[in-house]
Amino acid sequence: MRIAVCPGSFDPVTKGHLDIIQRGAKIFDKVIVAVLINRNKSPLFTIEERVELLREVTSHLPNVEVDSFQGLLIDYLKEKKAQAIIKGLRAVSDFEYEMQMASINRLLEEDIETFFMMTNNQYSFLSSSIVKEVAKYEADVSSLVPPLVEKALKKKYAEINLTT
Ligand code: ADP
Repeated sequence: MRIAVCPGSFDPVTKGHLDIIQRGAKIFDKVIVAVLINRNKSPLFTIEERVELLREVTSHLPNVEVDSFQGLLIDYLKEKKAQAIIKGLRAVSDFEYEMQMASINRLLEEDIETFFMMTNNQYSFLSSSIVKEVAKYEADVSSLVPPLVEKALKKKYAEINLTT
């Protein structure tokens, strides 16, 4: 069975992520979307919230699983018996960092392959940070994220506005 891991922060999941996950799920027998637990970042959504949103927006894809992980990605792949990492590329600006990550992962474990998928043109500018920036000012994000995520963003910023 060919298993791929699609890692990221997913804070929150966007239509760009979903496009990569869906395309990956057509190629691999199983895709595990893995939310990275990173203590250095200050995320908008908790790990549990990000996992839950991902589960709901991928519920129509029977071979997609959602999980979270800590530590080295390579160790996580071994634990899951996965052979590949799936990553999306938006622009040249993503390339340098991704190239570095792919090279180090290959050095650590030569049997694991990184697969890059070019973004769908309509999502080449799309990132979770852009979505948050737009949603913060109550602008319309319906073309950027699934409806459920749009709702979650509204709720989150309403809570934040109440407490500040
Ligand atoms: P970001 O916070 O930059 O949106 P993540 O760390 O959550 O990104 O990204 C996880 C993976 O999804 C990365 O491989 C990233 O390149 C990819 N990705 C993010 N947004 C898009 C997009 N709009 N199109 C294609 N791939 C994307």
